[in-house]
Amino acid sequence: MIKNGLINFLRFISPIFSEKKLIAKSNQVIFLPFYHCISNTNHEYIKNLYPVRNEKIFINDLDFFTHYFKPVDLDFLLNNKTVKEPVFHLSFDDGLSDVYNVIAPILLKKGIPASFFVNTDFIDNKDLFFRYKASIIIEKFKNYTKKELLIKKINKNISLHLSVNNFNTIIKSIDYNNKHILDKIAVLIDIDFNEYLQTNKPYLTTKQINELIKKGFTIGSHSMSHPEYRTIKYIDQIKQTTESMKFITDNFKPKHKIFSFPFTDYNVSLDFFNYIYKNNIVDYSFATAGLKIDNLNKNFQRFAMDGTLIPADKLVKAEYLYFLFKKIFNKNVIYH
Ligand SMILES: [Zn+2]
Repeated sequence: MIKNGLINFLRFISPIFSEKKLIAKSNQVIFLPFYHCISNTNHEYIKNLYPVRNEKIFINDLDFFTHYFKPVDLDFLLNNKTVKEPVFHLSFDDGLSDVYNVIAPILLKKGIPASFFVNTDFIDNKDLFFRYKASIIIEKFKNYTKKELLIKKINKNISLHLSVNNFNTIIKSIDYNNKHILDKIAVLIDIDFNEYLQTNKPYLTTKQINELIKKGFTIGSHSMSHPEYRTIKYIDQIKQTTESMKFITDNFKPKHKIFSFPFTDYNVSLDFFNYIYKNNIVDYSFATAGLKIDNLNKNFQRFAMDGTLIPADKLVKAEYLYFLFKKIFNKNVIYH
């Protein structure tokens, strides 16, 4: 709460600062913004989770980035960690079809490279991220006519203590380890996720990924099924990473084996990082802690651009101010 208040304050005062001076003062010339989705359509599978930036906001974001930073591809980023001029490398998690339909055409027009991290269980619309299932269930419930009857039916079958008032909160709080509950509720509320996947095709297909690679974009793994790593066993963290990375390597033959943590790398053990690097499972990893220095030189921290509709200049300046603030207390470095 204190952090949110501080960030809101920093966003409020950000217009009086110059981005150039903030970059120089912080000495953070590598900026790594990441997104999930850019869309003018309010997708059912995201709309109840967080606000999605539309094409107009995205284009403004890109204009801001290119004004202060030079766009670089993955190869440049990995080979120039001591670069002097400000650079940015864009990435997108979750492998949504909007990457192919909306994002890539805009980036190609502007000549901006990017990396796309995909969940191997979801490619070709084989399955759906559990958080997206929650959003679809909430959407269906909104217009459900016999709400009380349905709640009774769900509570009888699953011990959730749902009510009409707490429905959205409880559905959204179901985590990876309980995701089977969402499938049970879907049956009771009359949603067929397979049919949903085939009709709406939220994910990239193998063919689309190959086309994106041909156009110069890079592909990495975002795990198999998007668990929050700190909540699953070490052996499952290794399995999710190894098998998804192998799938990407076998199918798309990338030059660098890159992996982005689903949700966060917070509380993931140093043993895990050592294991994936030493055994050449992953060359470089990417996480989501914002503008921070990472004590592991193969792990990059990125800044989340979505979840808010605030313009890039305010968001990014506030993030630099926040970095400088944390630096006073030596909190600007992550030690794993
Ligand atoms: Zn993700």
